Amino acid sequence: MSKSKLIFLIADGMGDLPIEALHGRTPMEAAATPVMDRLAREGMVGLCRTVPQGMAPGSDVANMSLLGFDPAAHHTGRGPIEAAALGLALAGDDVVFRLNTVTVSEFSDDGIMRDYSAGHIATAVSTQLVESLERECLPEGYALFPGVQYRHLLVARGAADKAEATLAVRPPHDITDQGIAQDMAQFRRAPALWDFVRRAATVLAGSANTSKANAVWPWGQGRALTLPDFAATFGLRGAVVSAVDLVKGLGRAAGMAVLDVPGATGLLDTNYAGKVAAALDFLKEGDFVFVHVEAPDECGHGGDAAAKTEAVARFDAQVVAPMVAALGDDAAFLIACDHPTPIAIRTHTADPVPFLFWKQGVTPSGAAAFSEREAAKTGLVVAPGHALLPRAAAWAGKGGN
Ligand SMILES: [Zn+2]
Repeated sequence: MSKSKLIFLIADGMGDLPIEALHGRTPMEAAATPVMDRLAREGMVGLCRTVPQGMAPGSDVANMSLLGFDPAAHHTGRGPIEAAALGLALAGDDVVFRLNTVTVSEFSDDGIMRDYSAGHIATAVSTQLVESLERECLPEGYALFPGVQYRHLLVARGAADKAEATLAVRPPHDITDQGIAQDMAQFRRAPALWDFVRRAATVLAGSANTSKANAVWPWGQGRALTLPDFAATFGLRGAVVSAVDLVKGLGRAAGMAVLDVPGATGLLDTNYAGKVAAALDFLKEGDFVFVHVEAPDECGHGGDAAAKTEAVARFDAQVVAPMVAALGDDAAFLIACDHPTPIAIRTHTADPVPFLFWKQGVTPSGAAAFSEREAAKTGLVVAPGHALLPRAAAWAGKGGN
């Protein structure tokens, strides 16, 4: 009798609110999701509180909860998680920021945040920009590391006791079309950082740059991340599959396998088949995979209800369906989003997220489909959110297989 495998499929930002353009439905309700709906009818459906009281509803916090670790105990910032993804060697007193290449109306107190992604800038283009900033305006004691698309890292060496460690710059994806004066005031509190971001805007205004990136935006800083070992904690040999560095970083910090998939972009056109193939290949030996799809979140930030509905439908058809078809009765499935990214507000909320758990023979909780409303109706609530993974592992191991 082999141990049942546990498959955790995450659609980032999938949860939403009823939308007029979708005739009062959410994208989860409007999208054709026949496989998730079947699993919901046959399985356990409920809500999970992934964001602890008082913490910001970032994907970093919420995915840490989904991986079974309490963010209140382990979260030091978003930058440190992504640094773990790149395997950056950090000293105990280093401070690492996530750094976006962004589009602002102007980089001043009168400026407005136009696009947290600089038009989803291509990695090859943004890497060149980051390298030019490194050459032309990086202060002493700072280091820059280019990442995927608009997502980079900035390390302030030995800054744990300096102003850098205490800045409260807002995540750029939270302030689309809002003024940036309060963030500029934060940057000014750390003189070396302020000098860098100002000079970076000047360099990016130069004629050599034809991209939409006209500023850099360091945020989400903290000291190095450490997590308990996943296998030792949960008794599962696990892997993560994702296009985004923060999920890779959580996996790496927890000693999990991090599966690289060519063409995984985080957008609607991401390489779903490649993610599924990598996950299935790992499961020949492993017990657990965490397959993360970013596209619904990006569509939520874009305020595009039709695209988000399509992203949810593709998640069902191109991730859930082939995983279920390949593993079916031999596996237990957990499906959730990390946090809602409602179209109406174009940013994350801390509301509890819908989840479903399915394995052959589990007692259904009475949901008619997989949606926010159906999940709320069953009355099953998992809080704190980091209790979901160990509970699902226990459900998966009980009886059968
Ligand atoms: Zn997001």
